[in-house]
Amino acid sequence: MRVLILGVNGFIGSSLTEAILSQRDWQVFGLDVSAHKLGGLLGHPRFKFVEGDVLINKEWIEYQIKKCDVVLPLVAIANPIQYIRQPLQVFELDFEANLAIVRHAVRYRKRLVFPSTSEVYGMSPDRELSEFESSCVYGPIDKQRWIYAASKQLLDRVIYAYGVEHGLDYTLIRPFNWIGPKLDNVFEPKEGSSRVFTQFMSNVIFGRPIHLVDGGRQRRSFTYIDDGVDCLLRIIENREGCASQQIFNIGNPGNDVSVAELAQLIIEEFKKFPDYRARAEAAEVISTAASEYYGKGYQDIQARVPSISNARTRLGWSPMTTLRHAIQLTLQHYLTAEEQADLS
Ligand code: UDP
Repeated sequence: MRVLILGVNGFIGSSLTEAILSQRDWQVFGLDVSAHKLGGLLGHPRFKFVEGDVLINKEWIEYQIKKCDVVLPLVAIANPIQYIRQPLQVFELDFEANLAIVRHAVRYRKRLVFPSTSEVYGMSPDRELSEFESSCVYGPIDKQRWIYAASKQLLDRVIYAYGVEHGLDYTLIRPFNWIGPKLDNVFEPKEGSSRVFTQFMSNVIFGRPIHLVDGGRQRRSFTYIDDGVDCLLRIIENREGCASQQIFNIGNPGNDVSVAELAQLIIEEFKKFPDYRARAEAAEVISTAASEYYGKGYQDIQARVPSISNARTRLGWSPMTTLRHAIQLTLQHYLTAEEQADLS
C-alpha cells in the first residue's frame, strides 16, 4: 500500500510514519515544510520525504494523489491561541487548502482519511459525544475560537456529501486531546501557544507558574499518541471496508480529568526525577481569567468525553494508556534529551 501523508512532520504525521515503517510493509510518501520530527526515518527505504508546502507544491500533491492508495491530509493549524490570533490563516489552510485536496481524492477515486476534530462538538451538552447523535454547538461570531470548529465541521459535511453523491471512500477521524512526545516542544515555551499538556510540563521545567484558566475545572479526555496511532493503522488498513464512509471519535474516556487534576499529575510525576524534584515542589499553580490568558475571542469548552463505541465495534480498538503512564512516557522521552536545553 502506498500512503500519502501531507504534514508528515507533524505530531500525528511523524508518529504515524514511525509506526507504519516499523509495524507494516506499506510505503510512505510525505510532504512537509520541515523534517525535524522525522529523525532517523529519513533514510528508510520505504519512506520518501519531500520538503514543501501544501499552499505552493500543488502539482506535486495532485500527482502523488493520483499515484497513492490512501491520502491523509494532516496539514492544519490546530492550536486554540491561533484560532484567535490568525483566524483567516486557520480558514485558508484548514478549510480552503484542504478542500482542494479533498476534491483531488474525489476526482482520482482515492481513499481519504481526513482529520476532523473533537472540537467540532463545540459546547455540545452531551455527557458522551457521539459521532451520530451529538449536536455541534458554537458561540457567537466574535468568539473567533470557533472558526476552527466551523471550518472543520463544514469540511466534514462536504466530505460526507461527496461520499453520498460521488461514492468517495473516506474516513473522518476525531482525535480527543492526543498527547505525547513531539506534540509541542517543551523546551520552547511560548506562554499560551502550546497545548495544555506541553505547556504545563514546560512551566515546571522552566520554574514558571502554571496558569489554570478559570481555575482549571474544564475537563478533557487525554489520549496517548500510541493509542491514537494504533487506531489510525486499523483505519488505513480498512479490513473488509470496516472504516469506509465512517466517522470515528479517537479518544480515551478513561482519562477524563480536569485541567487542575492534569496539573497535579504532571507535578507529581516530575517529583520522581531528582533533577526536577525541587522545581516540582516549588511549582506555583495560579488561576487566570480566560479573557486575560487568551484574549476576548476565546470561549472555553467545559467538558469533552468521547463515545468510542464505533471504533470499538468496527475496528476492535480500545485505548490502553492511562494518563499517568502517558505523562511518564513523555517525560522519559524529554528528560533523556535534557542536555538539549540550557536549563541551569
Ligand atoms: N489551559 C489552561 N492553561 C494553559 C493552557 C490551557 O488552563 O496554560 C486550558 C484551556 O483553557 C482548555 C484546556 O486547558 O480548557 C485545554 O486546552 P488546549 O489548548 O490543550 O486545547 P483544547 O482542548 O481546548 O482544544
